[in-house]
Amino acid sequence: MKFGTKAVHAGLKPDESTGAIMTPIYQTSTYAQKMPGDHKGYEYSRTLNPTRDALQRNLAAIENGKYGLCFSSGMGAIDTVVKLLSPGDEIVANNDLYGGTYRIMTKVFEGYGIKSHFVDMSDASSVAAHINENTKLVWIETPSNPLLNVIDIDAIAALTQGKDILLGVDNTFASPYLQNPLDLGADIVMHSVTKYLGGHSDVVMGALICSDDDLHERLSFIQNTCGAVPGPQDCFLVLRGIKTLHLRMQRHSDNGRTIAEYLDAHDKVARVYWPGLESHANHDIAKKQMRDFGGMLSFTLKDNSLAAAHAVISQTKIFILAESLGGVESLVGHPASMTHAAIPQEKREATGIVEGLIRLSIGIEDSDDLVEDLKQAIG
Ligand SMILES: *Cc1c(COP(=O)(O)O)cnc(C)c1O
Repeated sequence: MKFGTKAVHAGLKPDESTGAIMTPIYQTSTYAQKMPGDHKGYEYSRTLNPTRDALQRNLAAIENGKYGLCFSSGMGAIDTVVKLLSPGDEIVANNDLYGGTYRIMTKVFEGYGIKSHFVDMSDASSVAAHINENTKLVWIETPSNPLLNVIDIDAIAALTQGKDILLGVDNTFASPYLQNPLDLGADIVMHSVTKYLGGHSDVVMGALICSDDDLHERLSFIQNTCGAVPGPQDCFLVLRGIKTLHLRMQRHSDNGRTIAEYLDAHDKVARVYWPGLESHANHDIAKKQMRDFGGMLSFTLKDNSLAAAHAVISQTKIFILAESLGGVESLVGHPASMTHAAIPQEKREATGIVEGLIRLSIGIEDSDDLVEDLKQAIG
């Protein structure tokens, strides 16, 4: 089955009791049993709920995996992955991560004796240098947030495969429409479903997808035991969102190209970070592992002052100043003071997240209007 068909149908069937086309919202915490243990597969909704079950099957299918697990947020999903580790174990992650991921690894799990190394992964050999006998998890975010660095998943998988090291990929920016990390050798794919999968800025949710039976068993044990699960209403909204994922992502990508090319030619713009530009440092890898290049883009002005960046982000009219990304509406953000404020300034600057960096989540509006909006804001 091809992607668009899977997005609409995979894991779903008309409701058996009524024929309803859409998966019902099973707003129930518990289920009747004939005798203890004699039930229809559902006992208690932390463990499993039919609406969540349908979404988990759909997510597994669109990521070419065997199992999907949903969480009450993307951070709840990452928390679950790190809980596979024990004190003394180590993580190697890329150095330009989502701020919340950096925060949980340093401020929470370091206190439990799990150490993280944040490294430049543009060259796989620099990753190899940080892998030792304690390494149990390599964590990649590609394209990365907010600099859109692209990491060669296949090359990193070659370093972890055959060893007792899990490779996890945060696939939030690409979405399953643009990239499928399990096909490239990853063990676990993670999503902030809040972003492109939900797609309408109305749900906070996370997901993990994997194919290994034992790994799924361990992750689902933590999901049920620790309990960061989403409710059925949110699962319904995401099921509805995914039905148009392929259409939305193609439009995000098309608008991304139009705006990247517009900004790239603008005389007040210093640098544009969008993996589809030939000038992008990792364009070749992006072309190899992604189907298109998405709607996330960052840029700096030639005037690299905070004031110049603030002037632009306060003057856009269609691009709304807000955290988050991946919805149908265009957003503008300032990573240094918003999404990435949790990272100490010197570390931020060293990875390129300078005060003048502006991040765009390009929506599915008419690209002519988006270009006009940037034109009046940048001047
Ligand atoms: C938003 C985001 C997260 C965290 O997900 P939440 O749903 O906000 O908890 C993790 N990784 C990336 C790349 C994100 O953009």
